Amino acid sequence: MANTVPTISLNDGNTIPQLGFGVFQIDPKDTAEAVGTALSIGYRHIDTAQMYGNEAEVGQAIRTSGLDRGEVFVTSKLSNAFHRPDDARKAFESTLSALKTDYIDLFLIHWPLPTLYDGDYVSTWKTLKEFQQDGRARSIGVSNFQVPHLERLAAEAEVVPAVNQVEAHPYFGNEEVRAYGREFNIITEAWSPIAQGAVLGDPTVVDIADQIGRTPAQVVLRWHVQRGDVIFPKSTTPARIEENFQLFDFELDDAAMERISSLDRGAAGRQGGNPDTFDYVPA
Ligand code: NDP
Repeated sequence: MANTVPTISLNDGNTIPQLGFGVFQIDPKDTAEAVGTALSIGYRHIDTAQMYGNEAEVGQAIRTSGLDRGEVFVTSKLSNAFHRPDDARKAFESTLSALKTDYIDLFLIHWPLPTLYDGDYVSTWKTLKEFQQDGRARSIGVSNFQVPHLERLAAEAEVVPAVNQVEAHPYFGNEEVRAYGREFNIITEAWSPIAQGAVLGDPTVVDIADQIGRTPAQVVLRWHVQRGDVIFPKSTTPARIEENFQLFDFELDDAAMERISSLDRGAAGRQGGNPDTFDYVPA
């Protein structure tokens, strides 16, 4: 079995590599090197955001990699500070200029912020549609949207998000949101896929890893792959960046999949913010 990253079809006709590389909490001064390592290993999908402060360094790494821009799928996300349509337009331009590119593969609303901006994420979403219509965003989507937020977009806007990027890992399966995505053809992207490391010492995960001769991280990432979600684990450790890429030359059997799924702790398993109340806005 070759270790080839599958592509997943989006509802707008585009495709996305199922495995990418995430750069949340990578210091800008370390980002170009980490992304360069990932690209040299074979990653062709980078997940950044305005709020990560490292878009410029992601762009720099892609340019120095020798790869064509078209070979790398790049995602960024709108800062929580810029939900008003005029602000979103300016912020989107700043993403393109930081990355030094004339288009982005996927642009997301980072958080719905239902307690801010009079709860109006619909006009923000309609603004992202402009970027897709003028070709500067190939695909558009959302992040951290709960089912009621998605239902409201469905009722008040024409375009269905291509993806919804949400927290998901063995301790927080996020099944309700994933089920909505399956029903309405919205691909789920699972953020913090190894719960920032918290699931790697779990006895069930370790036991499965020992049985099949893989690492705990590979077992958990492979579980996501077989669930059909898109993932982009983060690491600044070259050996781990390599380890996290070796996911497509083995399979978990049904029993192992079920054992990992049974670790779900529901809402108590969240590592990050609850989107219904999350209201962080950078200064
Ligand atoms: P991850 O679940 O990817 O975990 C990253 C942590 O795990 C780091 O501390 C890393 O350490 C460690 N690690 C990585 N690989 C291994 C390994 N093989 N063995 C042991 N430890 C390992 O967390 P993230 O929160 O970074 O999530 C991934 C990506 O998801 C982000 O980078 C970002 O792109 C996205 N994201 C999106 C959010 C959103 O709101 N839309 C929120 C959070 C994340 P080290 O670097 O030291 O090697």
